[in-house]
Amino acid sequence: MLPAGSATSRLALHRWQAPGQCAVCHGWCRGALCADCIARHAAAVPRCARCGLRRPQPVDACGACIAAPPPQLRTVCAVDYGFPWDRLIARFKFHGDVGLAGALAGLLLRALPSDAAAAAGLVLPVPLAPQRLAERGYNQAWEIARRVAAATGRRADARLLLRPADGPHQAGLPLAERRRNLRHAFLVDPLRRTHLAGLRVALVDDVVTSGATAAVATQALLDAGAAAVEVWALARTPEPGS
Ligand SMILES: [Zn+2]
Ligand SMILES: [Zn+2]
Repeated sequence: MLPAGSATSRLALHRWQAPGQCAVCHGWCRGALCADCIARHAAAVPRCARCGLRRPQPVDACGACIAAPPPQLRTVCAVDYGFPWDRLIARFKFHGDVGLAGALAGLLLRALPSDAAAAAGLVLPVPLAPQRLAERGYNQAWEIARRVAAATGRRADARLLLRPADGPHQAGLPLAERRRNLRHAFLVDPLRRTHLAGLRVALVDDVVTSGATAAVATQALLDAGAAAVEVWALARTPEPGS
């Protein structure tokens, strides 16, 4: 018998309880999400393949992407950032519920076209600045990226793309200002740039909001020698009014 409250007994209890109930509807199920909730809340919707935004029909590039093409070749998004995923992602990201990582990575895997996985030479997370990483204890994008990479047999690397320091808070700033602030936010490890040469890179993030962070990180990878970059995001914030 394990002493009550010991780390091991808490872990055992966690393992026994958590997988049994759906994190959305709390019904009994085999994983952390039940099939009904996935079908109801994570059904595929038509999107622009380039930016990942929801569109009336699936398109290779929407009007906005034709007018100003983003640097990434493609953006895969599993779900729109809204109910119930916003609450789950907040638990995962801000409340230490790393146990949700497997289920959330599963959503992204479901949405990933087979050619996207096959073509990716390297899977990288959008990095956190050191201070943010120290506060949170983990990079939520890495928790998703490494699981997606393992499931697709791809190589993952958490230390190739770096984010040396935290810029000013981006929320609420106009897009042009976000891009200006972010311009030097990312850096490919100067001693390992050759690791990128000629590869198609999958850049994984939990939520793509304006797309500014993904675009700047993508550009840093292209500047360092990546042949192409795809953004694989768990969730995409819908356009206002959409
Ligand atoms: Zn459910
Ligand atoms: Zn688009």
